[in-house]
Amino acid sequence: MADSRNRSGRHKTAEGQACRFVSVDVELANLCKNRCAMCPRGMITRPRGVMAESTVSALVRFLEGSRCLVTFSGMGDPLRHRGLPDVIARLRSAGHQTGVVVHPASLQNRIRGRTGMEHLLLNAPDSITVSFPSVRKEVFQKLFPDVSIESALEQVLILGKMSPSPVRVSGLLTALNPDETEEYRAFWKKYGISAWVSRCHSRGGNLGPGLVPGMDGKGPAKGGCSLFRFHSFVSWDGSLLACCHDLSGSTRMADIFTLSDYRSLESLKARLVACGAGLPFKLCSVCDEPLRNIRLPVLPVNGGRRERRKFFSGMAAFSRRR
Ligand code: SF4
Repeated sequence: MADSRNRSGRHKTAEGQACRFVSVDVELANLCKNRCAMCPRGMITRPRGVMAESTVSALVRFLEGSRCLVTFSGMGDPLRHRGLPDVIARLRSAGHQTGVVVHPASLQNRIRGRTGMEHLLLNAPDSITVSFPSVRKEVFQKLFPDVSIESALEQVLILGKMSPSPVRVSGLLTALNPDETEEYRAFWKKYGISAWVSRCHSRGGNLGPGLVPGMDGKGPAKGGCSLFRFHSFVSWDGSLLACCHDLSGSTRMADIFTLSDYRSLESLKARLVACGAGLPFKLCSVCDEPLRNIRLPVLPVNGGRRERRKFFSGMAAFSRRR
């Protein structure tokens, strides 16, 4: 197949839109002790484990030169990885921005004599996002049965004071609280903590209408998925999956050991998008992830932090309109 790059080196899709390696979610572990109601982790059929040191090294090599945003999240708890502070340090010294998404209960769990929070702050990432699905007590407790809302709030406020980098919370509009956006934002404004609210979706058809408000699993609109174009996912064993919603590994495209670098993944993705009307994965055909149809300006080839900020503020504006 012909190389899909244009003269400026940007990988083009069938719709004339670039596939760019802007951000990557890294699943340091797909193990977790928490039991969030909206997490389908129990249905994972792909292998489970924690990222080995050799895989971390392969990741650092694979990302070299991309200066992308690396976020430790996925279907597991990043604080289950004993080497998290070292992984953050390695990626930051290689010029990447780093972010971690954590559960408030994990901040209190002890790891090698330290709490999760102390462990995280040993080498703080550039940003920390705490999952805090709702500020309504009854909703919070249904979604997060492992921690009280009072204790979770205390953890967020302590973290906000201690962390040298920004701390934000992420809320979730489920069938239990579809109208909470303004209340959620006003609550966190009082504490000076920035808040992001997104709509709960079925995570590849794995969550039902009891949690997901107004399911519309129709897959991406013509032109393919915007997340797929800009955002990548590396599982704990180094597999490059099309999406973090993949519980079975059926969207595996390659791995970070055999693919030479992130540019090869851009190229592979562009070819996959150019192959047909949508993405060739069954998972995508039932997808209701709101961000799949976001329309953003094409980023410059040598985009850095500024362009990424633009990209993510576009995402935030999109989610506010939902
Ligand atoms: S269409 Fe949905 S499942 Fe497929 S890559 Fe995009 S967000 Fe993931």
